Amino acid sequence: MLTWPPPYIPQLPGRGLPVQVRDSSTDQLVVAAAGTDATLYVCGITPYDATHLGHAATYVAFDILGRAWRDAGHRVRYASNVTDVDDPLLERAASLGIDWRDLAAEQTQLYAEDMTALAVIPPDVYSGVVEVIPAVVEAVEVLLAAGAAYRVPTPDALTDDGLGDVYADLTADIDFGAVAGLDDDTMRCLSAERGGDPERAGKRAPLDPLLWRRERAGEPAWDGGSLGRGRPGWHIECAVIARDALGLPFDVEGGGSDLQFPHHEMSTSHARLLDQGRGARVHLHTGMVGLDGHKMSKSLGNLVLVSRLREQGVDPMAVRLAILAHRYRDDWDWTDEGLRAAQERLEHWRAAVSGNGGPDADSTLAAVRAALADDLDTPGALAAIDAWADLSLAGTPTPVEGAPGVIGRTLDALLGIRL
Ligand code: ZN
Repeated sequence: MLTWPPPYIPQLPGRGLPVQVRDSSTDQLVVAAAGTDATLYVCGITPYDATHLGHAATYVAFDILGRAWRDAGHRVRYASNVTDVDDPLLERAASLGIDWRDLAAEQTQLYAEDMTALAVIPPDVYSGVVEVIPAVVEAVEVLLAAGAAYRVPTPDALTDDGLGDVYADLTADIDFGAVAGLDDDTMRCLSAERGGDPERAGKRAPLDPLLWRRERAGEPAWDGGSLGRGRPGWHIECAVIARDALGLPFDVEGGGSDLQFPHHEMSTSHARLLDQGRGARVHLHTGMVGLDGHKMSKSLGNLVLVSRLREQGVDPMAVRLAILAHRYRDDWDWTDEGLRAAQERLEHWRAAVSGNGGPDADSTLAAVRAALADDLDTPGALAAIDAWADLSLAGTPTPVEGAPGVIGRTLDALLGIRL
């Protein structure tokens, strides 16, 4: 799948600090990348409501991680997916009376335009699930052969060949549960809420997730080899794309906090069983973005879309800055005041860097680097720039030539803010 054009990243003097993040699974601060290569997988969109502020906040947060890693000298490899066939997409297309492929193509394009406008560095590997079906089929066959998966009869399948849907047997994974650390009742509730089917008859256990769904009337399907025609389950898609793009184990698997369970618990379990117990080393989750005290969701009809803000003439850099004013892991509300504050901050900074000379920028660059290395503390980074901008606008008795340029490049390279 084609990505969007990468933004130019200016060089900065010196080097950033090793980036520490708080692993969602253990709640411990850990160094995010183990070696010279830093590998990141972020779950992509299901293309039917792109790109609301919750999506934007997630991809901007992991973009900050990539930028901090590059600044610290890592070679970054970033992979992401597009879930371009799944139940929510098919349901949305049916309700709109359009072909699911057209809806997916249109929304994926819109997402790429939004990411370009927000200066998000594109993934190195960007796969639609439709592009990786043979690899998914092979992985499901491996799990079946290992006894880590089983078939469930599907009397409603289009072809009555007795092959059935395929589910993972979670008892095969002794580490299942380590990603989210939840009790059984909570897991069962969240599974029902978030795309699972705990009530499905014929499963060995309620939480066992779907790996391969046989073709039903009116649903898209692909050749599945020994599995029969069908389509992939959601979690196996990310396990396979991450494994093939990054190798296992990789450093960080990320996404919104609503993906921790079941999606990351299941995809990590699949990855472990496919490759000797190895999945992502660290899990990071971004908070949910609400609107005026309510969860932002398609069903409530209160989605704030980046594309709509752009149509209204809102500077995408102000949108990005409004996101960066919050810690990535916190839940927060999108508000008009928050956007206005970001716009004012941009104006303030633009005025502060307009001259040739200004307050010394070295300590500000060091403060921004220290903030980002401390679990991506973007509000701390913004405060450091604010302090420099205040000094600059107050007038420095001993201005340093070129200091405003260093601040501008710091904002561009580390925070993705172009003044
Ligand atoms: Zn995923």
